[in-house]
Amino acid sequence: MNINFNYNNLKESYLFSLISKKVEKFKSQNPECEIIRLGIGDVTLPLVPAVIEAMQKAVCEMGNADTFRGYGEEQGYSFLRQSVCDYYAKKNIKLNENEIFISDGAKSDLGNILDIFDIDNTVIIPDPVYPVYVDTNIMAGRKINFISGNIENDFLPVPNDSLKGDIVYLCSPNNPTGAVYNKEQLSLWVEWALTNNAVILFDSAYEAFIKDKNLPTSIYQIARAKECAIEFCSLSKTAGFTGTRCGYTVIPNELILNNTSVNKLWLRRQTTKFNGVPYIIQRGAQAVFTDNGYNQISNDINYYLGNANIIANTLSTLGIWYTGGKNSPYIWLKCPNNMTSWGFFDLLLRKYNIVGTPGVGFGENGEGFLRLTAFGSRDNVLKAMDRIKNTTF
Ligand code: PLP
Repeated sequence: MNINFNYNNLKESYLFSLISKKVEKFKSQNPECEIIRLGIGDVTLPLVPAVIEAMQKAVCEMGNADTFRGYGEEQGYSFLRQSVCDYYAKKNIKLNENEIFISDGAKSDLGNILDIFDIDNTVIIPDPVYPVYVDTNIMAGRKINFISGNIENDFLPVPNDSLKGDIVYLCSPNNPTGAVYNKEQLSLWVEWALTNNAVILFDSAYEAFIKDKNLPTSIYQIARAKECAIEFCSLSKTAGFTGTRCGYTVIPNELILNNTSVNKLWLRRQTTKFNGVPYIIQRGAQAVFTDNGYNQISNDINYYLGNANIIANTLSTLGIWYTGGKNSPYIWLKCPNNMTSWGFFDLLLRKYNIVGTPGVGFGENGEGFLRLTAFGSRDNVLKAMDRIKNTTF
């Protein structure tokens, strides 16, 4: 018997525990200070009424013998997959119901998708990055090559001719940087993937935050992307489902690798290892895609984007370099005076009682940067910006 020794290669994730330790210590030494958390990556607004009504109705159905449902289709109920197809149709992307897989959120599928790829594949991951891509590949023992996100490329790396790899993760709008790829940049990735027989794992968990009509909200808005890309999406940030849990993954029928339909492989994997998302949750998710539901969640997204805008404007006034803050709930800033991520974190906490997330926690290239998020309340965002707006760091 041997355990999976690859787990020994995982780096301990101290980021969020160290943040809470530092905040708790500061609070106990300075109980009179009001701390404002601008580092949270979780939503704060409640589920919208349309979702609640749909779930309440579904709860009643489950309590009635005539409408009760047991096991559902592993890949999701047809009503929800059709709603997702209709949503894509509005983006001029034609998908078939069988290309949609309903999940309990993007995180699970982003990790589980690796089941269908050989261990010898080389993976390309941008740095800084959402840590799940890195850790799931370390667990599997796969070779990882990092590509650098930095100020020069606005944290939007694109491939060059010498880049080699089989699986590449792209995240747009990006967590942690808030940066969003444009069509030309994504076209370079699609071209590269087709030339190199590689697959793009496209994480569009924050696509609903894109308001600029010129920016792509799906990789399938790029020609021939269906031949080389899988898209992962989530209702977590779009509709406040972080605790409710629902997402979807798109695997187009055109995605054929090694003469094999990737869609069929994933269907086989899901029907073997997954038993679907609860009926009640899928009814709630369906409500997100109705006109009424979408208007309601759009109000919430606009509220968060309003927060992001206030933070971004303050940074501009202070002359601090940042990316994100538009079309994204994240703002990624360069720490003033070449401070380290933790150095600036400590200064913000001690002097201004504001909590951010040190960029170095998202990869080596994050050193010297800090992530702020727009998921807090408007009052807190205004108060926090008031504290720093006239300062010189
Ligand atoms: N992808 C990115 C880039 C994220 O930031 C997150 C959550 O923070 C997820 C995926 C996970 O989303 P879910 O809640 O759907 O699992």
